[in-house]
Amino acid sequence: MPSSLDELPAHVRLESHPTACNKAVAVSNVSPGSVILDVPSMVVLLLPSGKGHRCDFCLCSEASTVRLARCAGCASYWYCGTQCQSLHWGSHKKYCKRLASFTASADFQCLEEHEKLAALLHTHLIAEISSNVLCDARAKQLSTFMSLLPGPQHGSPPIACPMSVSVEVHQSLEALFSRSGNNNFAVHSHLTTIAHGIFPLASRLFNHSCLPNAAARYVIRQGQPVHMEVVALRQINASEEICISYVDPALIESRQQITHFTYGFSCTCPSCNFINTIGAIPPLPVSEAALADLDNALQRFCIPSGDIDDHTLLAGSALQVLPKNLHCVLHEGYLSRLTDTFSESSHEGSYRVALNVGLSVFAMYLLIYPTNYPQIGMHLLEMAKTAWNAVIAADHDNEQDVPAKTSLLKRAQIYLDLSSKIIKVFGSEGDPGGPLEELAVLENLLREDERSQLPVRKAWYDQ
Ligand SMILES: [Zn+2]
Ligand SMILES: [Zn+2]
Ligand SMILES: [Zn+2]
Repeated sequence: MPSSLDELPAHVRLESHPTACNKAVAVSNVSPGSVILDVPSMVVLLLPSGKGHRCDFCLCSEASTVRLARCAGCASYWYCGTQCQSLHWGSHKKYCKRLASFTASADFQCLEEHEKLAALLHTHLIAEISSNVLCDARAKQLSTFMSLLPGPQHGSPPIACPMSVSVEVHQSLEALFSRSGNNNFAVHSHLTTIAHGIFPLASRLFNHSCLPNAAARYVIRQGQPVHMEVVALRQINASEEICISYVDPALIESRQQITHFTYGFSCTCPSCNFINTIGAIPPLPVSEAALADLDNALQRFCIPSGDIDDHTLLAGSALQVLPKNLHCVLHEGYLSRLTDTFSESSHEGSYRVALNVGLSVFAMYLLIYPTNYPQIGMHLLEMAKTAWNAVIAADHDNEQDVPAKTSLLKRAQIYLDLSSKIIKVFGSEGDPGGPLEELAVLENLLREDERSQLPVRKAWYDQ
């Protein structure tokens, strides 16, 4: 990498790649949970749902200790303090006064939601590049960004808020967009997307796989730019390529089109290769009875022991041997039907229904996600909470079936232990609290319950 670009992290060297710029390979063995890369954002854009609830610069949440103040110039940006406001001002001043008329204009209003986000991210990017605050680190970040391969061009760049820019910037608007269009990441807190961000070195280093061995998490610190940390999900051996996923691997049917149209490549990961060999995915059965049979057959295949245990955690390898009669589960609608039913039934208090559907969701996750993928850990945490709540509901109904309750408590503990293993590899992300704190609370409830002879149990949601 030329010296004008960002420096490579210690764990990584670049090798040539037949279609991408390069590939990042591990210099030596990397253990699960290790941080491979830690980089600040070049540009972030808070999603509209967070407006007025999070700082537009550092993304920290409003809390008892964090009061947000509105920018007097545009009345649509909020900051957690003068530090963020002044750090952002170098670029924000470029469009602050004109933003209201831009977002009220017919040209902006007629855009779809995702196009509005693209227009605002483009605005942030142009302003950032045109701002006069130039230091060596920022200059390197920018040249790393410009060294990225342009994505496939589809039409002209999005509109942007009018601002004064140099002739140079004006001439490179298309070049900027052809890189930002395919190199912006969904920034998440506890795996929920809160913003979009550009992290040029991460884009430059890591190619995509639907079965990645690493994943990006985000660090929010009040008064500082958001950082992306790329974490090893499993042991990565020396000379092995390090990949992250650009697209949610659960988008089984659409992800290949997304990688093709947005990024300009065809994914050749083992999961996509398998899906290509089966051709058209056969249709799903229509009747509820046939769907229930399918759910059971999927569970028997992915979870042969009948319930989740350590041996079922060989995620990502089951797909390759998926029998023909189960190919139809690869329709995206199948998984969304399961996750909808799981969340509905666990919220409505139909815990036993939820626990059964939850097993089917888990079976699907074993097919589509790699080992230790954080979504698997989050789902197991929800399963543990559901099993605990099922015991509370049984207490409430005065059920005397002690073996049934004991078995539910045992399940809660198993789900919790596995969830904890996975979530701890990924580590904490975004706002304080979140899954690591929830794990500790439930762990405590289960431990107290075991000690107590006549437990008066508290529902999860009363905590
Ligand atoms: Zn802030
Ligand atoms: Zn403003
Ligand atoms: Zn793939």
